[in-house]
Amino acid sequence: MSAKTLAFVALALAPGLALAKPAPTNPDRTGPDRAGPDRAATTALRQQCGATEDFSAPAPPARLFGNTYYVGTCTVSVLLVTSPQGHVLVDTATEQAVPSILANIKALGFRPEDIRWIVTSHEHFDHVGGLAALVKATGAKVALSAPAAAVIATGKVDPADSQYGVLKDHDFAPAKADRIVASGSVVRVGPLRLTMSATPGHTTGSSSWSWQSCAGKQCRTVSYVDSISALAAPAYRFSDHPEVVARFRRTFAAIAARQCGILVTPHPSVSNLFDRMLGKAPFAGKNDCREYAAMGRKGLDAQLAKEAAK
Ligand SMILES: [Zn+2]
Repeated sequence: MSAKTLAFVALALAPGLALAKPAPTNPDRTGPDRAGPDRAATTALRQQCGATEDFSAPAPPARLFGNTYYVGTCTVSVLLVTSPQGHVLVDTATEQAVPSILANIKALGFRPEDIRWIVTSHEHFDHVGGLAALVKATGAKVALSAPAAAVIATGKVDPADSQYGVLKDHDFAPAKADRIVASGSVVRVGPLRLTMSATPGHTTGSSSWSWQSCAGKQCRTVSYVDSISALAAPAYRFSDHPEVVARFRRTFAAIAARQCGILVTPHPSVSNLFDRMLGKAPFAGKNDCREYAAMGRKGLDAQLAKEAAK
């Protein structure tokens, strides 16, 4: 069969294809040329942030990919996922960071009051301290895991938390959940679908989120995978809590098995995010989640070895 005949058969079998509009020669502003990380903005962020470790240090916003933007501080991630029907905000950083987060959202050309839902990683002041203030500023609803909701409603760190001893003086404004989510729950706004996975370990309520981020027809998975560091206050021993250790190990296995696409962590430096956005490291590798899980496992094993040596 000649190429010409083949083409004719294909058209006859798929008349819809024949009617499809030709691809535009000049891609619009949402086209693939505008899909990837905004390197100029990330360079500006780097310059402004320097080597600060301040959780609340303001950073300028930068597109991560498609309709997902980094609007957080120099050291704590906050992501804005946008759609014409409204947006989702992922994490809130500290209460002190809220003015800069709102300014970042506006600087990108979006309205804070168009945020419909706020979802979070884990119930520590550096990730949910700004939640109550952002709810007030945006009118958004809040989706939390049940254990996170119980803690965030108090505005105090969970007394059972492995870091209780060092975080107990970091109270934050309490906030309440409008919806309780668990593994497999989906938060929807217009075309947006953010899927939750419970990843307990760092805290009991630890939550990770993944979604498709699109620029025109080009879509990629973004995985916001929660912290998995086994940090302990001086009085806490993981070895006294085998159920916590077992939970952590299940979380490592679940994360290792994922294809995370574009990995983002609640502290951007942990996944080398800004170097990756700048093209100084691979933006998304197929082993990123496996390597991230291995890092967590190594940290927990080191902590257990330290406890055993005492
Ligand atoms: Zn943190």
